[in-house]
Amino acid sequence: PSALREVLIEVPNVHWDDIGGLEDVKQELREAVEWPLKYPKAFKKLGITPPKGILLYGPPGTGKTLLAKAIATESQANFIAIRGPEVLSKWVGESEKRIREIFRKARQAAPSIIFIDEIDAIAPARGTSEGEKVTDRLINQLLTEMDGIQENSGVVIIAATNRPDILDPALLRPGRFDRLILVPAPDEKARLEIFKVHTRNMPLAKDVDLRELARKTEGYTGADIAALVREAALNALKRAVSSLSPEAVEEESEEFLNKLVVTRKDFE
Ligand code: ATP
Repeated sequence: PSALREVLIEVPNVHWDDIGGLEDVKQELREAVEWPLKYPKAFKKLGITPPKGILLYGPPGTGKTLLAKAIATESQANFIAIRGPEVLSKWVGESEKRIREIFRKARQAAPSIIFIDEIDAIAPARGTSEGEKVTDRLINQLLTEMDGIQENSGVVIIAATNRPDILDPALLRPGRFDRLILVPAPDEKARLEIFKVHTRNMPLAKDVDLRELARKTEGYTGADIAALVREAALNALKRAVSSLSPEAVEEESEEFLNKLVVTRKDFE
Protein backbone atom coordinates (compact mmCIF):
# COMPACT_ATOMS: atom_id res chain seq x y z
CA PRO A 1 0.00 0.00 0.00
CA SER A 2 2.99 2.30 0.50
CA ALA A 3 3.14 3.91 -2.95
CA LEU A 4 -0.59 4.25 -3.16
CA ARG A 5 -0.97 5.63 0.29
CA GLU A 6 -2.53 9.03 0.14
CA VAL A 7 -0.02 11.88 0.23
CA LEU A 8 -1.00 13.79 3.33
CA ILE A 9 -1.55 17.48 2.89
CA GLU A 10 -1.53 19.40 6.14
CA VAL A 11 -2.46 22.89 6.99
CA PRO A 12 -0.18 23.57 9.93
CA ASN A 13 -0.96 26.04 12.65
CA VAL A 14 2.44 27.33 13.72
CA HIS A 15 2.99 31.06 13.69
CA TRP A 16 6.21 33.06 13.60
CA ASP A 17 5.71 34.07 17.23
CA ASP A 18 5.56 30.41 18.30
CA ILE A 19 9.26 30.31 17.50
CA GLY A 20 11.61 31.86 20.05
CA GLY A 21 14.74 33.64 18.80
CA LEU A 22 15.96 32.99 15.22
CA GLU A 23 14.89 36.49 14.19
CA ASP A 24 17.33 36.66 11.25
CA VAL A 25 16.30 33.24 10.01
CA LYS A 26 12.62 34.15 10.20
CA GLN A 27 13.23 37.36 8.27
CA GLU A 28 15.22 35.56 5.59
CA LEU A 29 12.47 32.95 5.18
CA ARG A 30 9.82 35.62 4.99
CA GLU A 31 11.61 37.27 2.10
CA ALA A 32 12.67 34.08 0.34
CA VAL A 33 9.48 32.02 0.68
CA GLU A 34 6.55 33.84 2.21
CA TRP A 35 6.71 36.93 0.00
CA PRO A 36 7.12 35.07 -3.32
CA LEU A 37 4.22 32.78 -2.43
CA LYS A 38 2.04 35.67 -1.35
CA TYR A 39 3.02 38.17 -4.03
CA PRO A 40 3.99 36.18 -7.13
CA LYS A 41 3.02 38.99 -9.49
CA ALA A 42 5.24 41.48 -7.71
CA PHE A 43 8.22 39.15 -7.95
CA LYS A 44 7.54 38.58 -11.62
CA LYS A 45 7.26 42.26 -12.34
CA LEU A 46 10.48 43.00 -10.48
CA GLY A 47 12.24 40.15 -12.22
CA ILE A 48 13.39 38.52 -8.99
CA THR A 49 13.61 34.76 -9.04
CA PRO A 50 12.75 33.28 -5.67
CA PRO A 51 14.58 30.14 -4.56
CA LYS A 52 12.89 26.80 -5.30
CA GLY A 53 14.72 24.91 -2.63
CA ILE A 54 15.97 25.91 0.79
CA LEU A 55 18.16 23.86 3.06
CA LEU A 56 17.86 24.47 6.79
CA TYR A 57 20.85 23.04 8.60
CA GLY A 58 22.01 22.97 12.19
CA PRO A 59 21.95 20.90 15.36
CA PRO A 60 18.88 18.75 16.20
CA GLY A 61 16.00 20.28 18.12
CA THR A 62 16.63 23.88 17.13
CA GLY A 63 13.34 24.50 15.34
CA LYS A 64 13.84 23.52 11.70
CA THR A 65 10.55 21.66 11.46
CA LEU A 66 8.82 24.44 13.35
CA LEU A 67 10.17 27.01 10.88
CA ALA A 68 8.98 25.01 7.86
CA LYS A 69 5.50 24.75 9.37
CA ALA A 70 5.42 28.44 10.23
CA ILE A 71 6.30 29.38 6.65
CA ALA A 72 3.38 27.29 5.45
CA THR A 73 0.98 28.76 7.99
CA GLU A 74 2.05 32.34 7.44
CA SER A 75 2.04 32.08 3.64
CA GLN A 76 -1.27 30.21 3.70
CA ALA A 77 0.35 27.39 1.80
CA ASN A 78 -0.36 23.68 1.98
CA PHE A 79 2.25 21.56 3.69
CA ILE A 80 3.45 18.12 2.67
CA ALA A 81 6.00 16.58 5.01
CA ILE A 82 8.20 13.58 4.36
CA ARG A 83 11.15 12.17 6.25
CA GLY A 84 14.29 10.96 4.56
CA PRO A 85 14.59 7.69 6.50
CA GLU A 86 10.94 6.88 5.86
CA VAL A 87 11.48 7.21 2.12
CA LEU A 88 14.30 4.71 2.25
CA SER A 89 12.88 2.12 4.58
CA LYS A 90 9.20 1.93 3.72
CA TRP A 91 9.05 2.58 0.06
CA VAL A 92 11.83 0.41 -1.28
CA GLY A 93 11.16 -0.12 -4.94
CA GLU A 94 8.32 2.33 -4.89
CA SER A 95 10.15 5.34 -3.62
CA GLU A 96 10.51 6.98 -6.99
CA LYS A 97 6.82 6.64 -7.67
CA ARG A 98 6.18 8.10 -4.26
CA ILE A 99 8.40 11.10 -4.89
CA ARG A 100 6.68 11.72 -8.23
CA GLU A 101 3.30 11.54 -6.50
CA ILE A 102 4.36 13.99 -3.78
CA PHE A 103 5.46 16.56 -6.33
CA ARG A 104 2.31 16.05 -8.38
CA LYS A 105 0.17 16.64 -5.30
CA ALA A 106 2.21 19.69 -4.37
CA ARG A 107 1.72 21.25 -7.80
CA GLN A 108 -1.98 20.53 -7.61
CA ALA A 109 -2.25 22.05 -4.15
CA ALA A 110 -0.09 25.11 -4.87
CA PRO A 111 0.82 27.32 -3.15
CA SER A 112 2.48 24.52 -1.27
CA ILE A 113 5.57 23.58 0.64
CA ILE A 114 7.23 20.21 0.52
CA PHE A 115 9.23 19.63 3.67
CA ILE A 116 11.88 16.90 3.58
CA ASP A 117 13.18 16.30 7.10
CA GLU A 118 16.51 14.47 7.54
CA ILE A 119 17.25 14.72 3.85
CA ASP A 120 20.74 13.35 4.51
CA ALA A 121 19.16 9.91 4.84
CA ILE A 122 18.27 9.83 1.15
CA ALA A 123 21.21 11.82 0.03
CA PRO A 124 24.55 10.37 1.04
CA ALA A 125 27.12 11.38 -1.58
CA ARG A 126 26.76 9.14 -4.59
CA GLY A 127 29.03 6.17 -4.98
CA THR A 128 29.99 5.94 -1.33
CA SER A 129 27.46 3.73 0.36
CA GLU A 130 26.09 0.23 0.11
CA GLY A 131 22.57 1.12 -0.91
CA GLU A 132 24.26 3.23 -3.53
CA LYS A 133 21.91 2.32 -6.35
CA VAL A 134 18.76 2.98 -4.37
CA THR A 135 19.88 6.38 -3.16
CA ASP A 136 21.22 7.23 -6.62
CA ARG A 137 17.83 6.61 -8.11
CA LEU A 138 16.07 8.53 -5.37
CA ILE A 139 18.35 11.51 -5.69
CA ASN A 140 17.96 11.52 -9.46
CA GLN A 141 14.21 11.37 -9.10
CA LEU A 142 14.25 14.22 -6.62
CA LEU A 143 16.50 16.32 -8.87
CA THR A 144 14.33 15.65 -11.90
CA GLU A 145 11.25 16.73 -10.01
CA MET A 146 12.94 19.85 -8.67
CA ASP A 147 14.28 20.79 -12.08
CA GLY A 148 10.78 20.35 -13.47
CA ILE A 149 9.25 22.90 -11.15
CA GLN A 150 8.54 26.13 -12.96
CA GLU A 151 9.66 29.38 -11.50
CA ASN A 152 6.85 31.09 -9.67
CA SER A 153 4.74 27.93 -9.72
CA GLY A 154 4.00 28.26 -6.02
CA VAL A 155 5.85 25.12 -4.94
CA VAL A 156 8.79 25.49 -2.60
CA ILE A 157 10.88 22.65 -1.24
CA ILE A 158 12.39 23.00 2.20
CA ALA A 159 14.77 20.38 3.47
CA ALA A 160 16.37 19.98 6.88
CA THR A 161 19.54 18.25 7.99
CA ASN A 162 22.07 18.09 10.80
CA ARG A 163 24.66 16.85 8.32
CA PRO A 164 24.96 19.26 5.40
CA ASP A 165 28.49 17.96 4.88
CA ILE A 166 27.36 14.52 3.64
CA LEU A 167 24.79 15.75 1.13
CA ASP A 168 25.23 15.00 -2.53
CA PRO A 169 26.64 18.23 -4.03
CA ALA A 170 24.24 17.85 -6.96
CA LEU A 171 21.44 18.77 -4.55
CA LEU A 172 23.06 22.10 -3.79
CA ARG A 173 23.45 23.36 -7.36
CA PRO A 174 21.66 26.49 -8.57
CA GLY A 175 17.96 25.94 -9.07
CA ARG A 176 17.93 23.20 -6.44
CA PHE A 177 18.71 23.64 -2.73
CA ASP A 178 20.71 26.74 -3.48
CA ARG A 179 19.79 28.69 -0.35
CA LEU A 180 21.46 27.36 2.78
CA ILE A 181 20.28 28.72 6.08
CA LEU A 182 21.94 27.91 9.39
CA VAL A 183 19.54 27.32 12.27
CA PRO A 184 21.88 27.67 15.24
CA ALA A 185 21.54 26.54 18.84
CA PRO A 186 19.97 29.37 20.86
CA ASP A 187 22.04 31.90 22.78
CA GLU A 188 20.86 33.26 26.14
CA LYS A 189 18.56 35.87 24.59
CA ALA A 190 16.98 33.31 22.27
CA ARG A 191 16.59 30.85 25.15
CA LEU A 192 14.64 33.49 27.07
CA GLU A 193 12.32 33.92 24.09
CA ILE A 194 11.85 30.16 23.85
CA PHE A 195 11.04 29.97 27.59
CA LYS A 196 8.47 32.72 27.06
CA VAL A 197 6.84 30.84 24.18
CA HIS A 198 6.57 27.61 26.12
CA THR A 199 5.31 29.13 29.36
CA ARG A 200 2.96 31.69 27.89
CA ASN A 201 -0.20 29.71 28.71
CA MET A 202 1.13 28.30 31.95
CA PRO A 203 0.26 29.44 35.47
CA LEU A 204 3.65 30.55 36.78
CA ALA A 205 4.40 31.52 40.38
CA LYS A 206 5.99 34.93 40.97
CA ASP A 207 9.27 33.32 41.97
CA VAL A 208 9.85 31.90 38.49
CA ASP A 209 12.52 33.99 36.81
CA LEU A 210 12.71 33.18 33.11
CA ARG A 211 15.87 35.28 32.70
CA GLU A 212 17.61 33.20 35.30
CA LEU A 213 16.45 30.00 33.59
CA ALA A 214 17.77 31.28 30.27
CA ARG A 215 21.10 32.07 31.89
CA LYS A 216 21.38 28.65 33.50
CA THR A 217 20.52 26.61 30.43
CA GLU A 218 23.67 27.12 28.36
CA GLY A 219 23.82 24.38 25.74
CA TYR A 220 20.09 23.66 25.76
CA THR A 221 18.26 23.57 22.43
CA GLY A 222 14.66 24.64 21.90
CA ALA A 223 13.61 21.01 22.18
CA ASP A 224 15.48 20.71 25.52
CA ILE A 225 13.74 23.81 26.85
CA ALA A 226 10.33 22.54 25.75
CA ALA A 227 11.06 19.29 27.62
CA LEU A 228 12.24 21.15 30.73
CA VAL A 229 9.08 23.25 30.85
CA ARG A 230 6.90 20.18 30.39
CA GLU A 231 8.71 18.47 33.26
CA ALA A 232 8.28 21.47 35.52
CA ALA A 233 4.54 21.43 34.84
CA LEU A 234 4.40 17.74 35.67
CA ASN A 235 6.26 18.43 38.92
CA ALA A 236 3.60 20.97 39.84
CA LEU A 237 0.94 18.39 39.11
CA LYS A 238 2.67 15.75 41.23
CA ARG A 239 2.92 18.19 44.11
CA ALA A 240 -0.77 19.00 43.94
CA VAL A 241 -1.73 15.34 43.69
CA SER A 242 0.35 14.26 46.68
CA SER A 243 -0.97 17.04 48.92
CA LEU A 244 -4.68 16.33 48.46
CA SER A 245 -7.12 13.52 49.00
CA PRO A 246 -7.60 11.13 46.06
CA GLU A 247 -11.22 12.30 45.82
CA ALA A 248 -10.30 15.94 45.50
CA VAL A 249 -7.86 15.02 42.75
CA GLU A 250 -10.24 12.64 41.03
CA GLU A 251 -12.94 15.29 40.80
CA GLU A 252 -10.44 17.90 39.73
CA SER A 253 -11.80 20.01 42.53
CA GLU A 254 -11.28 23.74 42.65
CA GLU A 255 -8.76 23.26 45.44
CA PHE A 256 -6.79 20.92 43.22
CA LEU A 257 -6.90 23.22 40.20
CA ASN A 258 -5.87 26.16 42.38
CA LYS A 259 -2.75 24.30 43.43
CA LEU A 260 -1.63 23.89 39.85
CA VAL A 261 0.90 26.66 39.76
CA VAL A 262 4.42 26.08 38.48
CA THR A 263 7.04 27.35 40.91
CA ARG A 264 10.74 27.96 40.70
CA LYS A 265 11.45 24.70 42.50
CA ASP A 266 9.60 22.74 39.82
CA PHE A 267 12.30 23.69 37.33
CA GLU A 268 15.13 22.26 39.44
P1 ATP B 1 15.42 17.70 14.40
O1 ATP B 1 16.65 18.11 13.67
O2 ATP B 1 15.66 16.82 15.59
O3 ATP B 1 14.29 17.26 13.51
P2 ATP B 1 14.33 20.34 14.51
O4 ATP B 1 15.40 21.34 14.38
O5 ATP B 1 13.45 20.06 13.35
O6 ATP B 1 14.92 19.02 15.12
P3 ATP B 1 11.91 20.92 15.86
O7 ATP B 1 11.30 19.59 15.55
O8 ATP B 1 11.45 22.07 15.09
O9 ATP B 1 13.47 20.80 15.74
O10 ATP B 1 11.80 21.23 17.40
C1 ATP B 1 11.35 20.26 18.31
C2 ATP B 1 10.52 20.92 19.38
O11 ATP B 1 11.36 21.75 20.18
C3 ATP B 1 9.46 21.85 18.82
O12 ATP B 1 8.25 21.18 18.61
C4 ATP B 1 9.35 22.90 19.91
O13 ATP B 1 8.51 22.47 20.95
C5 ATP B 1 10.75 22.98 20.47
N1 ATP B 1 11.54 24.06 19.85
C6 ATP B 1 12.68 23.93 19.13
N2 ATP B 1 13.17 25.11 18.75
C7 ATP B 1 12.31 26.04 19.21
C8 ATP B 1 12.26 27.48 19.13
N3 ATP B 1 13.20 28.19 18.51
N4 ATP B 1 11.21 28.10 19.72
C9 ATP B 1 10.26 27.41 20.37
N5 ATP B 1 10.26 26.06 20.47
C10 ATP B 1 11.27 25.38 19.92
